[in-house]
Amino acid sequence: MKKHNFYAGPSILSEYTINNTIDAIRNFAGMDLSLLEISHRSKQFTAVINEASALVKELLEVPEGYSVLWLGGGASLQFCMVPYNLLHNKAAYLETGVWASNAIKEARLFGEVDVVASSREANFNFVPTDYVIPADADYFHFTTNNTIYGTELRKDPDSPVPLVADMSSDIFSRPVDVSKYDLIYAGAQKNIAPAGVTLVIVKDSVLGKAPRQIPTMLNYKTHVDKESMFNTPPVLPIFSALQTLRYYKEQGGVKALELIDMEKAGMLYDAIDNSRMFLGTARADSRSIMNVCFVMAPEYKELEQEFIDFAAARNIVGIKGHRSVGGFRASLYNALPKESVKALIDAMNEFEKKH
Ligand SMILES: *Cc1c(COP(=O)(O)O)cnc(C)c1O
Repeated sequence: MKKHNFYAGPSILSEYTINNTIDAIRNFAGMDLSLLEISHRSKQFTAVINEASALVKELLEVPEGYSVLWLGGGASLQFCMVPYNLLHNKAAYLETGVWASNAIKEARLFGEVDVVASSREANFNFVPTDYVIPADADYFHFTTNNTIYGTELRKDPDSPVPLVADMSSDIFSRPVDVSKYDLIYAGAQKNIAPAGVTLVIVKDSVLGKAPRQIPTMLNYKTHVDKESMFNTPPVLPIFSALQTLRYYKEQGGVKALELIDMEKAGMLYDAIDNSRMFLGTARADSRSIMNVCFVMAPEYKELEQEFIDFAAARNIVGIKGHRSVGGFRASLYNALPKESVKALIDAMNEFEKKH
């Protein structure tokens, strides 16, 4: 291993994913051609996208009646595609961070938006639980993991209306009851693949009903009908996604991954809680197991940059916190080995001793 990679996204991928992607760029499926220079409609690539979609369904136990899509435009395009396709009159949104706010802003272009609760006043350091979802909303949208603030909602909330979730930074870290959702989306670059593709799981029966014209490329139905092959899909990240999904299956699926993720996060939160120097920023009941945010206690505040340098000298990279929270953020995505978490904890302990 070269570095202990804690970047928040794009972020660490398994060596299995990286190596197989490199091999396919050289020689894809024994074709003596690169993955980058063949038709997306070749039978070899069609097999890749079909297996990737089938593995998503298998790993998340997606019920009948849902389609798996591989789209361009990032998770941010979903902020507009979701209301374009699903908002008829009114939608409910939970505001738990910048990504949720961006989604709310787009939804307002299409109808009434009821923001049922927001943790903005507390700089989004918790996920609100006390709110009422209006029964006449078309859907309830929330962000499962707030990448910037290190907060997470690790369950599928009870709701009188169908759920829609941005799972960009914690998909495949727990089992999900997909039947409660009309739509789930996740940008690939945190837990799946290189940037460039967004995974969408959508309930077929909710499509084609919006009271407006939808441009072809922004209409989910276009992509459902053509199995993500209406136009050229992002072939490279889809190939990498398949490798990651195979790797996840071999690891024992999302239940097994969740146990490992919980253990990694538990180790780091314990270290933070047992330290005088480091303080967690997320409220204890909202702590994310994917992104752990922490700062230095006020009396040590001026040492933050020094710790980043100290860690870098130990091959630990990507721990600088997002500017809106400050301090540090260690992203513990599925591909991050436990040894990297240990290396970070050792660095924290040594640094604390030194001061
Ligand atoms: C990274 C991230 C996004 C933005 O993804 P893009 O693919 O860059 O548009 C949206 N939501 C969450 C939760 C994220 O972590």
